[in-house]
Amino acid sequence: MKVLAVLYKAGQHAKDEPKLLGCIENELGLRKWLEDQGHTLVTTDDKEGPDSTLDRELVDADVLITTPFHPGYITRERIAKAKNLKICITAGVGSDHIDLTAANERKISVLEVTGSNVVSVAEHVVMTILVLVRNFVPANNQITIRKKWNVAEVAKDSYDVEGKVIATVGAGRIGYRVLERLVAFNPKELLYFDYQPLSKELEEKVGARRVLDLKEMLSQADVVTINCPLHEGTKGLFNKELISHMKDGAWLVNTARGAICVAEDVAEAVETGKLRGYGGDVFAPQPAPENHPWRSMRNKYGGGNAMTPHISGTSLDAQQRYADGVKNILASFFSQKYDYRPEDVIVTNGHYATKAYGEDKK
Ligand code: NAP
Repeated sequence: MKVLAVLYKAGQHAKDEPKLLGCIENELGLRKWLEDQGHTLVTTDDKEGPDSTLDRELVDADVLITTPFHPGYITRERIAKAKNLKICITAGVGSDHIDLTAANERKISVLEVTGSNVVSVAEHVVMTILVLVRNFVPANNQITIRKKWNVAEVAKDSYDVEGKVIATVGAGRIGYRVLERLVAFNPKELLYFDYQPLSKELEEKVGARRVLDLKEMLSQADVVTINCPLHEGTKGLFNKELISHMKDGAWLVNTARGAICVAEDVAEAVETGKLRGYGGDVFAPQPAPENHPWRSMRNKYGGGNAMTPHISGTSLDAQQRYADGVKNILASFFSQKYDYRPEDVIVTNGHYATKAYGEDKK
């Protein structure tokens, strides 16, 4: 079978660090394993425009591997051209870059490696909260890049996490792990907004309170972290109107998906002081253009920006886990057992596997 993988290019970095599995050079460690079984592997990072390598190679591919980090956007048009395509595997978590409705119509299965990077992202969220609240980035720039020493300049925008109200939109695998890690910082209160309540046991373990109305929760929180998937109900959710319900001077952290926020509205909120800062690692589209407002936005003190490229879920530890997960899915597919982990299945046989996806969430 022909396997097509769309990964990012690493160049010398792939040679520097062979554990950097998620790049076109190291190919998730799959090449020998696939070729030993008689399969063909094509890898590319060229994914934009109608004449991209992705478009040319997709035409006769049986299996497609993509990642959320350098997403090959698998639109309805691309699916229509992919006559042999049977399965799309996301190396990571979040398959919103694939038109799932179009995949269902063609009975193409879509799977991802659920849970593979949830600890990595939760750690990044906590780090981003700390970096923003404590004003780390401007302080570090002052010392290492501007070679200055001016405590007042950076202390005037630096606070403690202790005693703050911190809220998560989505309390699934990542959101709950964020809550677990925040307990140690002695917040005033932990809040969550999700369709389903956590079990009493899980709620009590972190001392979190569920708020049924999103706007009400936002109006109470000093720090908000977004940990829900991108879908029709969350696309553009954090726009000017919703942000207006947040506390003045709150911090917003989004490692879920860039398109959950309206980029210009967030940048304006940071620049006008409605938000004290915004941080995260996800943009729409990716790679982010050079003039994306989240690269240049700053608050009135010159800080309030804790953006990184999409790195939170792709630590080297996470890369090993999602590379292993992709291999397991492929092995199950090639053997025609289709005995996938239920939580990995997003769509199959023309249906959303919502039940399986929601099971065993924690
Ligand atoms: P998860 O375990 O499925 O948790 C997501 C939770 O959000 C679920 O409880 C879900 O409820 C809930 N939810 C859905 N829509 C919501 C809404 N409108 N408001 C509030 N809650 C909502 O997923 P996860 O593993 O925590 O991952 C969450 C997201 O993080 C992924 O979808 C992906 O986009 C992103 N992510 C980013 C990275 C990265 O590297 N930056 C890595 C991994 C994941 P239901 O189950 O009832 O729908």
